[in-house]
Order: sequence, then C-alpha cells, then structure tokens
Amino acid sequence: MENTSRSQDPVSLLQQNRVLTEEIQRRVGQLAAINTVATTVSQSLDLDLTLNTSLDAVLSIVPVDAAGISLIDEAAGRLVLRAQRGWKYDFVTDPMSIPLDKGLSGQVIREDRLIVTGDLRGDQRLAVPAFTREKIKAQALVPMHARGRVVGILSVMHHLEYTFEPEQLDVLKAIADQIGVALDNARLFEETHRQETRLSAIIQSAADAIIVTNPAGEISLINPAAQHLLGLRADSTLGLPLEKATLPVEVLHKLHDVLHGSTTTTPSVLDVSLESGQVLAGVVSHLLPAGAPDQAQGTGGRVILLRDVSHLKQAEETRMQFIQNAAHDLRNPLGVTLSALVMLRDSLPMDDPTVAEIYDIAIDAMNRMQVLLDDLLELEHIQGRHNFETQRVDPRPILVSVYREMGPLFAAQEQTCVLEVPSRLPEVNLAVDWFRRAVGNYLSNANKYTQAGGQIKLRACVQGKELLIEVEDNGPGIPLDTQERLFDRFYRAFSSTHPRRGSGLGLAMVKSVAEAHGGRVYFSSKPGRGSTFGMALPLA
Ligand code: ADP
Repeated sequence: MENTSRSQDPVSLLQQNRVLTEEIQRRVGQLAAINTVATTVSQSLDLDLTLNTSLDAVLSIVPVDAAGISLIDEAAGRLVLRAQRGWKYDFVTDPMSIPLDKGLSGQVIREDRLIVTGDLRGDQRLAVPAFTREKIKAQALVPMHARGRVVGILSVMHHLEYTFEPEQLDVLKAIADQIGVALDNARLFEETHRQETRLSAIIQSAADAIIVTNPAGEISLINPAAQHLLGLRADSTLGLPLEKATLPVEVLHKLHDVLHGSTTTTPSVLDVSLESGQVLAGVVSHLLPAGAPDQAQGTGGRVILLRDVSHLKQAEETRMQFIQNAAHDLRNPLGVTLSALVMLRDSLPMDDPTVAEIYDIAIDAMNRMQVLLDDLLELEHIQGRHNFETQRVDPRPILVSVYREMGPLFAAQEQTCVLEVPSRLPEVNLAVDWFRRAVGNYLSNANKYTQAGGQIKLRACVQGKELLIEVEDNGPGIPLDTQERLFDRFYRAFSSTHPRRGSGLGLAMVKSVAEAHGGRVYFSSKPGRGSTFGMALPLA
C-alpha cells in the first residue's frame, strides 16, 4: 500500500495548503473582528455612543448593507429600535417599537435564537408592515445577551439576495453578545447617573436643612437650605467636625445629646428653640450603606434634617390659647347651670316620672360636658408641655399610690386589682403629676370597660433601657378594626354600643404623656378576652 500523501501530486498539496491557510486567515480575521468590536464598544459608557460605535464596527466586519440595534424596554414591554445604519428610511427618530411577543423579533426573543430570513415582502411574521419599504432581501436577527438574558436584537440586512455563511452567523452571535454586555453596562451607568443627579437635585432644592457627617463626624454635605437656615457657608464648613461648625449653640447642644446618646440606628427626634425665637424640629438618622438601606448597622455617618417650624409653633400656641380660653369661658356658665339645676330639684315635682327623667338627662348632659372640658384642657396642657417639669424619681411609690387611690372604684365593681411591681425599680425622669394621670387613666379605663367581677393587673418591669408599665384586664377587649385609631383624639372604640361614659380623650392624653417623657405607648388585645395597655419610658 502506498502512503496517501505520497499518492498526491505536489500541485494538489499546494492547493490544499492554500485553502487551509486562507481558512486560518479568515478565522483569525473573524477573531480579530470580534476583538475589535469588544474593545471599541466597551470603551464608552455613553449609551448612544456605544450604539453607534457598535453599528460601525459591525458594518466594517460583516459584508452587509445595513444594520440596526433594538433594545428591550422591560417597563413598557416593547422592543425599541435605538440605532440604524445603511437603511433607506428613518425608523429611529419616531422609533420603531414592537410589543415583545410580536413578529419576527418576538420570535427571536421568545425562542432566544438567531433567525435568518429572505425577502420580507409577504412574510406573515412581519410586525411593522412599513418595514417592507426597505426592500430587504436577506436579514439575520441576532439576540444580544447580558446578565444571562436577551437584552435586545442586532439585525443585519442585505438589499440584494444573500446567503449568510454559518461562520458569519457565528461571528454575528459573538459580536451581538459583546454589544449586549457593553450596552447593558452603558444603560446601568446611565441609570445610576440619572438617579444620582436626581438625588442631588432633591437634596439641593429641599426646603429642609440637610447636613451629612462622615464616620469621623466631619461635615461631608450641607445643602443650601441648611446654609440659609443656620447661617453657614459651605466652603468654610465642609470637612469640619460637626462641633466646630458655627452652628447656633442651642442646636449644637441638642445634637451633642442626640449623637452621643443614641446607640441604636433608630432615628432620633429633636426640637430646638433658638434665642432668636425660632423653633426648629429635626431628625437625626444613621447614614445607611448605599445599596443596603435596610441594614441594621449604619456606616457611622449621620444625616441631620432640620426644619423651621416657628410658624407651626405659633399656630399651635394660638390654637391652644383659643381652646383654653373657650374651655375656661364655658366652665363658669356650666358650673352655674349645674348648681341651678341642683337647686331647682327641690321645687320640681320629682315624683312625676317624666319630670324626673328630663331632670336626670339634663344633669347627665351637664356632667358629661364638664368631663369633656376637663379632659380637653388636660390634653391641651400636656400637648403644650404645660407644667411639664421632670425629676429623677423612684416610680414604685407613685405606682403604689395610684393603685391605692383607685381601690374604691374596683371595689364598687367587685373587680380584683393586683399590683405586680418589683420591690426595686430603677429611677426614671418623671413629670410626676402627668405620670400619675396617665397610669390612672389606664386603670380607670380597665375599671370602666371590664365587667363587674373582672380581674385587673397593674404591672411594672424593666426591659432593656425602658421601664414598662402595663395594665391588663380580662374585659371585652377591643375590636380589631378599631385598634389602629385607639389613641386618636375623641376616638371611642364602640361608643354606640358600650354604655360607659367618656370623652375619647384619655388615651390621647396617655400617649402625649409618654411621648413628652421620650417614651411610647403600646397595647395588645384579644377581642372577647381582654386588653393590655402599656407605656414604655426611658430609664434615667
Ligand atoms: P374614653 O374612655 O373617655 O372613651 P379613652 O381615650 O380613654 O376614652 O379610650 C378610648 C376608647 O378605647 C374607649 O372609648 C374604649 O372604647 C376603648 N378602651 C380603652 N380602654 C379599654 C379597655 N381597658 N378595654 C376595652 N376598651 C378600652
């Protein structure tokens, strides 16, 4: 047997060699082309520039007449033509936009594969009939991928009949994916840039003063409203430690307390009255890491937001003054009418049931009005922080005394009331009278709304850095749909059905008392089984 290579003549060997060399050269050329596209398109983060550079690169590498790039607009659910080259008509200015599941491109996206067509006239799959005007005779639609999914379509076209070689299609696929990634990057960059610009515009034009500090406590941002409100200059303030900034001394003191007092990432609220009479309300929050705003741990930086609420304070004072005056003015005639009614009793034929009933209604109405006025005045006082002087005290004796005072009320209803207070409690800063009223209100509600013979508990304990005071009863509980509004002014959970009298202001007062102490109220209730009302106050 003769060796095959020896059987071939030198001419055919040379020919084979040339074909192979040409093949290798073509492949090298294709790889170089893909590489060129990759480097060209990935150099820019500008979306339009990337689109146009990509098309130029495609046309310089693949022997086609025209090319286009369409991108998926996920929010709109459409594929939109964003760039074209070599087309007869303009389909970009008023962009050709196709629903994602329609036409040939819909098929490319759905099936995630390249589709080659011949003459498009009469092709049922064409979603935009106007496109036939282009008189395309051959076309390849190539899906572009990024982050593992189709992000758009690269289309290349011939105005004459043309057969795409399989290798050309392979090159197109590789190029399409390069462009897909580059475009996706450009799109992400644009989106981030847009968000940053929007955020910066919001901060710059916010009516509230915003100051941001870095983890070292130095001022890293101060918006125009802050400069105006606090008389600061950005150029001389940026980079300074907060306490070195020329802030009003009252603001500095409050900020110092807040910044060094809070250990949790929960925002702290502050209000400051300046010597000038201006009143500022503010919130200090921890600056959370970008991209992880629900993180429990802050970055160490803070965001300080301040608002001038002088006009609100003024309006609030006027409103309070008005209510107080009105309540005072009403109290006198009310007292006089009530005494007159009592005096009248002896001269009325009270053995007549109708007269007795009318008399009772009148007395009852007068009494209710008096309760309402008293509650309203009380609420106004606490909300305006009237007579709100706190002192560091042991809360235990106060709780014991309120509990004893309420004893007769429980006895009258044959209810048992138990006091569960540890023998030692840490000290708390309390406005004692207000605290007594708040606890008394919880207890009197438990007494009012719990059935005769019911059981009530007054509890106190320490949890974390708070003193918890709770009143639990086994009364009717509170209907679920009314629980949310329970602490609102004038709200009564089942006023039409339950017979107990009240103004609906008691719980609003307790809430104000707790908040004035820097604390909060809470409650839990199982309708039909009872309620627990609580107050959490910070320890001294
Ligand atoms: P008032 O008792 O004057 O109506 P409050 O503000 O003290 O006003 O209470 C608001 C409403 O909350 C009451 O009308 C009542 O419906 C409901 N409530 C308060 N405490 C209790 C309780 N311990 N059990 C059941 N319902 C309660």
